[in-house]
Amino acid sequence: MLRFAPSPTGDMHIGNLRVAIFNHILSKQLNEKLIIRIEDTDKKRNIKNKDKEILEILNLFSIEYDRVIYQSESLKYHQKLAMQLVSTKKAFACFCGDDKLDELRQIAKNEKKPFRYDGFCQNLSNELVLEVNAPFSIRAKQPQSNIKFTDLLKGDFDYKPFDIDSFIILRHDKTPTYNYACAIDDMLLDISTVIRGEDHLSNTPKQIYIRDILEYKTKINYIHLPMILNAQSGKKMSKRDDESSIRWLIEEGFLPSAIANYLVLLGNKTPCEVFTLEEAIKWFDIKSISKSAAKFDISKLRFVNKKHLEIIDEIRLSKILGFDDKDIGKLAKVYLEEASTIKELKSKLNLIFSKKLLCVGFEDEFDTLKNIILKEKYFNSFIEFKAYLSKESGLKGKSLFKPLRYLLTGANDGPNLSDIYPLIKNYLGEIVKC
Ligand code: GLU
Repeated sequence: MLRFAPSPTGDMHIGNLRVAIFNHILSKQLNEKLIIRIEDTDKKRNIKNKDKEILEILNLFSIEYDRVIYQSESLKYHQKLAMQLVSTKKAFACFCGDDKLDELRQIAKNEKKPFRYDGFCQNLSNELVLEVNAPFSIRAKQPQSNIKFTDLLKGDFDYKPFDIDSFIILRHDKTPTYNYACAIDDMLLDISTVIRGEDHLSNTPKQIYIRDILEYKTKINYIHLPMILNAQSGKKMSKRDDESSIRWLIEEGFLPSAIANYLVLLGNKTPCEVFTLEEAIKWFDIKSISKSAAKFDISKLRFVNKKHLEIIDEIRLSKILGFDDKDIGKLAKVYLEEASTIKELKSKLNLIFSKKLLCVGFEDEFDTLKNIILKEKYFNSFIEFKAYLSKESGLKGKSLFKPLRYLLTGANDGPNLSDIYPLIKNYLGEIVKC
């Protein structure tokens, strides 16, 4: 079983989506189920309805999963297993309050050392623990030996006991900390492979250690994906970068299929540049992902998006654009010579169907042509249409084509009118009248 474990604490961004996509691909390749685990234990940071938004995005990207679970629903297991760890002396009740811990933090800071718990409550006797009438947290005892693991992408890691420390697993309010809840849930769900961002790499030894002290023997494979950097600043894409938000990319008119394609392509060696997720499942090799950070390049995404728009079914494209006509889908494809996104195509179509009042420099010619076209004589080919207009108006060359282009497209330049005309000929009245 694989899992994608988003926190409902912010917008879904490209980093999360890449993790979700890779989990989807691997679950298909390994023929194992994928579950979505909403990590909602940090109540203060949860944002209302973010879980629904995340699931909607997963559906939009055709990421198939077996079921959705909410981490907060496993609270009783988190608490039960914490008590088990206390009774086996692998964890202990810690009465140290925030004031004392802040003081320890300050001392560590002054000494330019990393903060570590001083072990004060580790050896309290059971009797004393029962006597103390104060809130307590539960800490896992610092390990006795190093925690080692191999990341399938990044290689071997070896953490010393000091790196792990005696860390809190249940807070004063008896809610689990992130590392603890994650370790328990991955164990209870029998997860085989964890794919997540490399910002979680330093959490992994703590999670492995929790399962070790619970004597869970199954080894979980880890794959930590390198960060995605902003190509301009060279810094990690943050939630503040618009381009990293999936909602923003969709609003900008990028197709889910193209975004998914781009995220698989990013920092990867692939047999081709343009593909669907279904195709990628056949050849994708997670080990071929670059170990170093990848740069998010929106111009490359625009290129991939255009390629997907070139091959999309024309009726579907027309529906996405608010029509239901194959010719409008074909027309949009003609405009791909100067547009790369749905938003840009929409603005081209809006111009075609927009009100055209006058054509600067060709005001009279514009009116003449408009009146002739409104007579609604129908011509199948652009050559016949053009010849008829020229004959009726006496116009030719620039005086014919400049106002005609403006009248038909609302723009002063663009694709050949001979390519556009056959696709809009059924709408001429509407286009010219408005
Ligand atoms: N909830 C974590 C996040 O959204 C992911 C944790 C994990 O995959 O283990 O970053």
